[in-house]
Amino acid sequence: TLSGKRAVITGSNSGIGLGVAEALAAAGAEVVLNSFTDRPEDHDMARDLGARHGVVARYIAADMSKGAECRALIEKAGGCDILVNNAGIQFVSPVEDFPVEKWDAILAINLSSAFHTTAAALPGMKAKGWGRIVNVASAHGLTASPFKSAYVAAKHGVLGLTKTVALEVAGQGITCNAICPGYVLTPLVEAQIPDQMKAHKMDRETVIREVMLDRQPSRQFATVEQIGGTAVYLCSSSADQVTGTSISVDGGWTAL
Ligand code: NAD
Repeated sequence: TLSGKRAVITGSNSGIGLGVAEALAAAGAEVVLNSFTDRPEDHDMARDLGARHGVVARYIAADMSKGAECRALIEKAGGCDILVNNAGIQFVSPVEDFPVEKWDAILAINLSSAFHTTAAALPGMKAKGWGRIVNVASAHGLTASPFKSAYVAAKHGVLGLTKTVALEVAGQGITCNAICPGYVLTPLVEAQIPDQMKAHKMDRETVIREVMLDRQPSRQFATVEQIGGTAVYLCSSSADQVTGTSISVDGGWTAL
């Protein structure tokens, strides 16, 4: 059980981040949800999640593209025992046309935010002699696809940061690992299905199997619940000696 542990999950008002927050709360952790918006429904979502699992849950707005806001998130949370760096965006373009502001935003949100939150969270973890840092990377942390230069560079960077932080805190009760999902059926991915069906003149099942899951040998999406379960495992005592590594949840993508 994770009761008595406070978890901060960046980018967690939808998709994988929300799934991880649900799983950590179900395991008894206090959770802090985050995104860059500050709407009533963001706070309602946290209140509802907390009530369903009988844990304290809050929403704290902070823009993960800004280093000072990343650090302020950890401070406003009151520190954390579990840090899940999940916020991320994607943009697809050939490298020579890649918009500079998109490159900068992807590197900031997908990579630098994890540097800032980790730096802010570590002193508290060291003082307690316990901590878990879980970075949501991607199969694109281990492999590449054309037209995703910023995303692939950032996710490879996340794995480098993961290993380095793990070495710096080894033996101090703190672990740092990455989860590398393949295609996960989040609202973001779900929304692409109708367009792909139209573009390829295929039905839903065919476009999922032949187009979207072309790289995923299982031809099945991973789920946010499976990513959540992987995060809970990494936070458990069974994973005390699992550090500086990554767990792929990708239906065989990186075995090909
Ligand atoms: P999503 O769009 O549903 O979730 C992204 C989250 O990040 C949202 O909560 C969004 O509000 C938040 N976010 C975006 N910009 C932010 C900012 N500037 N500040 C704070 N929060 C911000 O997408 P998802 O699929 O759940 O992706 C979550 C993570 O998982 C990302 O890092 C993504 O790269 C990674 N991932 C996703 C897949 C997949 O197939 N869905 C596969 C591999 C890795």
